[in-house]
Formats: sequence, structure tokens, C-alpha cells
Amino acid sequence: MRILLFLLLLSLPLQAREAYQIRGLAQFDAEQQSKLKAWLDKAVKASQTALGEYPFTMALHLHPRKANQPVPWANTWRQDQQSVHFYVDTRFPLQRFVNDWTAYHELSHLAIPYLGSWNSWFAEGFASFMQYQLMADAGVLEGSLEDAYRSKIKPQARWYNSQYSAASVARRLMQNRQYAAAYWGGAWFFVLADRQLRQDYGKGFSQLIREYQSCCRNESEDIQQLVAALDSMLEKPVFVPLLQRFEQAPARDIFREWLESGNNE
Ligand SMILES: [Zn+2]
Repeated sequence: MRILLFLLLLSLPLQAREAYQIRGLAQFDAEQQSKLKAWLDKAVKASQTALGEYPFTMALHLHPRKANQPVPWANTWRQDQQSVHFYVDTRFPLQRFVNDWTAYHELSHLAIPYLGSWNSWFAEGFASFMQYQLMADAGVLEGSLEDAYRSKIKPQARWYNSQYSAASVARRLMQNRQYAAAYWGGAWFFVLADRQLRQDYGKGFSQLIREYQSCCRNESEDIQQLVAALDSMLEKPVFVPLLQRFEQAPARDIFREWLESGNNE
């Protein structure tokens, strides 16, 4: 008995950190609670597969809201604990929750630090790129990843037919509340980074982000530290120069391959 207790105590520090805690469940009945738990569990598992285990426990807050879709609104909070607030209409069946992109998008945000409103095009581009990687892992993405990105980025490319930088165009779009144009223009950054990583290192951006969780996530606090940390895991830099291009080169040069294929389809 004493030996058993000793072994138990020994194993305690080795127990994995909780990936997440759910808050606000008491507002829902038992059946709704089990549906919400099943949904969040699947979404978190997809985030762990694509992005790695975060070096902190997330707080996932649930709020009831009547709407015409299962998750009409959600946002992240970073002040005390890395958190997501989900507004949910539990009249929808579990499968509608699982198919919905919102949780995959919001959980992705937490894989990198809060970067401030000036860099929200980058943060939203990151989460928009990643949401499809998570959906592919959860088995709910229809068609290929490549098709998913093309169908979202192509219609927005015309906004970037500009002599101004891609980052400044995206910031202006964000200010004008043209969110799809800003988000998917930002996602192009990560499609390009992913391509370059596959070509030069034979691994995708998701894999690099998984490595980043264990080495650097808790250390980087702004966009410069983030791109420097990502590059520190590579033999030659990808992210610092790409960010510089998005900040300085004419947007139309960066989006050229979309603009040239312009009216053909
Ligand atoms: Zn977002």
C-alpha cells in the first residue's frame, strides 16, 4: 500500500497539464452540455494535431445565444488566461457545430501571442490559414486545402492590385470592415510561407508551429519576436524577409499570380 502511494505521488508531477477548461456550462441542460463538450473536445484535438499542445491551459467560455447558426459569434481574450468566448445556439445538432469553422479559427489564434491591432491582418491571416488545416485534421473540410485557399483568396486578390504594400492595404481593408478581404489577403502570407518551407525543408508551416509551441510560444510577445523565433528554427530565414516584403513591396507584386490569372475563370 505504501509503495502504491509512493508511486502515485511520483507520477503526479508527470501528469499532463489540462489542455482546456470549460466555463459557463451550468447555463445549459445535461443534453446540451454533453453536445458542447463533445464539440469542444473535437476542436481542441484538431488544434493539437495541427498546432501542437499549447504550453498553457485555455479557458473556453460558453454563452447561450439564439441565432441562425450554431456559433454566431466568438472572440479571444488574452488578459489573464488565454481564452475564447463562444456564443452558441444549442438548438443546432452536434454535427453542425463540428462542421462550423469558428472554433477551429479561434483556437488557432491562441497558437501565437496577441500581436496588437496594428498587426491584426497578420493574426487574422494566420487563424484563417490555420482554420482549414484544423478542419482537414477533423475530417470536415470539403475538397483539398489548396482548393479551400484558392476559393477564399482569389476573389479578394483584386483589392491588392496596388502600389501600396500588402500590409497597408490589409490594414485599410480592416479599418473599412472589409474583413474577408483583409483576412484572406493576410492568409496569403502563410500560404507563401508554407510553400517555401515545403520546398526548402520538406515540412509545412503547421509542423514549424508545433515546434514553436514547445520551444518559444511563451517567450515571444510581439510580431518581431514571433517571426524571429520562427526563423531561429530554420537554417535560413523565411518569416522576417516575408514580413518585410508584405510591409514594403507593392501589393500587386506579391499577389501577381492571382492578378495575372484574373479574368480567365
Ligand atoms: Zn480571428
